[in-house]
Amino acid sequence: MLLVLLTAACGSAQPAASVPATAPAAAPPSAAVAAESVPVPSPPAEIAVAYNPLTAAEADVLLHKGTEYRGTGEYTDLDQDGTYLCRQCNAPLYRSQDKFHSGCGWPAFDDELPGAIERHRDHSHGMERVEIVCANCKGHLGHVFAGERMTAKNTRHCVNSISMRFVPAGQPLPATIVLPKPAK
Ligand SMILES: [Zn+2]
Repeated sequence: MLLVLLTAACGSAQPAASVPATAPAAAPPSAAVAAESVPVPSPPAEIAVAYNPLTAAEADVLLHKGTEYRGTGEYTDLDQDGTYLCRQCNAPLYRSQDKFHSGCGWPAFDDELPGAIERHRDHSHGMERVEIVCANCKGHLGHVFAGERMTAKNTRHCVNSISMRFVPAGQPLPATIVLPKPAK
């Protein structure tokens, strides 16, 4: 019998760190590149000519806004610690800490990584919904719903497993693929 313990992580309970107003200048005079400390895992973006190749099933969802069948996605019941990336461009989208069991048949998250998700009104299929896409590559992820009171954040990102790729905690994240902006 497997007992799964879910920890209720609360991001607001962190003690306030004392930060000096001015950082000591320690860079050597000849240093041409400024080093930055990045608090969250954020691999460097990689300018490339193409995104990851997609299978027909992946393209149906990410490019043509399809929906995988309820209960069939590989990540619906996954509880492992890690990060969920966009399958098309590797951009980090969600953390496992924000995943919850909605009972809806698709992976559910009540929060996103900062700046990772774009929202668009979706009037298809006679419904008023909010579509969510990857902010980097615009690949279709699913829909976001509010006001269901499933978690304290009162938000449910209903995401197709096939739009994402899971990277377990401790493993390096691949670089996000960024395509050059089209010339106007
Ligand atoms: Zn993407």
